Amino acid sequence: LKGKIITVVGSGLIGRSWAMLFMSGGYMVKIYDNIPGQASGAITDIRKQIEELQQAKMLRGNLTAAEQLSLLSSHDDLLQALEGAFFVQECVFEDLEAKQSVFHEVENLVTESVILSSSTSCLMPSNVFSRVQNRTRCIISHPVNPPYYVRLVELVPHPETLPAVMDVAYSLMTDVGQAPVRLRKEIDGFALNRVQYAIIAESWRLVQVIMIILKNILTTYPFSGEILNAPSMEDYLQRYSEGIKRVLNTFGPVSDFSGEPADRIIKEICELIPAEQEHLTARRERRDQLLMGLAKLKK
Ligand code: NAD
Repeated sequence: LKGKIITVVGSGLIGRSWAMLFMSGGYMVKIYDNIPGQASGAITDIRKQIEELQQAKMLRGNLTAAEQLSLLSSHDDLLQALEGAFFVQECVFEDLEAKQSVFHEVENLVTESVILSSSTSCLMPSNVFSRVQNRTRCIISHPVNPPYYVRLVELVPHPETLPAVMDVAYSLMTDVGQAPVRLRKEIDGFALNRVQYAIIAESWRLVQVIMIILKNILTTYPFSGEILNAPSMEDYLQRYSEGIKRVLNTFGPVSDFSGEPADRIIKEICELIPAEQEHLTARRERRDQLLMGLAKLKK
């Protein structure tokens, strides 16, 4: 795959991060934004970030900052941006109609084999790709902010996505050093946000009563991370609260924590950490060492 072209559509926070990751793996990256001048502004910002990373010896991949930056170009014209690409990573606003029309437009400008991938945090593949004709090449590659440091990527298929498309996305993500996980089918909120939204919802309920306790349990103030993923807390709520509500409403009744899921979880945990004393002791020692390291960092 190396040396191949990837088009990033939308040059905000996440578009820039994807561009930096793909460049680090030696891919040529073409960034497009529908606001003229926005994509070239993104390049200026990326250049600064990449140079700082090189100075701090934190640059990812085997190429120098200059080599990586030579792979990057900005485009105000979508057709030009898509030329030669084998993979399109969409990173526009979290707005269903915006994404649907972007994919409709993109599909009309690329050949059948090009993979169409969305960064959406919380929209279902069957909705995002509803205006695409050939949905076998559609996939969601959901990153976690900031993707340069958090390697998890959720790969979520549309019901029609071909396994081969999932495989290409998986290889691409692995190739640039991310840690992809494959979801077998679409589910509202995917996996990560279902867990995160459960924490958000319960923190929201409890926030006035026990902020201090929550801080000590979660090691960070509830909601202090969210504002780093959007311009402000108000903006975060405006962008994501509808999705959070929708996902939480799909949670269903509380489990009785028995039966088949319990058997499976017990088996998996026993494989990970055998229940014998020596394994448990080693694991506890490791945990305490890591906590000590964390406490030192906090100091
Ligand atoms: P952002 O507001 O920083 O950037 C969006 C960019 O898209 C802007 O530059 C805008 O000009 C551009 N844009 C809008 N409509 C467009 C169009 N039709 N064609 C081309 N460009 C267009 O948003 P972001 O935080 O980068 O989020 C982008 C996507 O990534 C969203 O779907 C979001 O849910 C997802 N995501 C965000 C985070 C996060 O923490 N911010 C994490 C994972 C996934």
